[in-house]
Amino acid sequence: MESTSTTGGKEEEKPAKEKEKLCRRCKATYAPSGNTRLSCRFHPSYFVCRRHDDQKRYYQLRDGDPPYAAKFYDCCGAEDPDAAGCTTDFHLSYDDSDDA
Ligand SMILES: [Zn+2]
Ligand SMILES: [Zn+2]
Repeated sequence: MESTSTTGGKEEEKPAKEKEKLCRRCKATYAPSGNTRLSCRFHPSYFVCRRHDDQKRYYQLRDGDPPYAAKFYDCCGAEDPDAAGCTTDFHLSYDDSDDA
């Protein structure tokens, strides 16, 4: 009887790589160990489109917004939707609870 010796599969040791998390606020991936209160840059409020002061109405931007509408971040007034966040804080992963 011939027995084929099976090599029990080489177990490659992977370096214990820290699992990156996804920030639910800025949608960036980050290493939890490198998460500081300066890591996440975001706007605490939404980019809004306000019509006229008399109709204090806010709505989120859509295609074809009326040209008379003023668009800006409600938190800091930045008029560029790509403007860097005005606030920094810890990244917030989907694992974290809201009131962390
Ligand atoms: Zn973040
Ligand atoms: Zn802002």
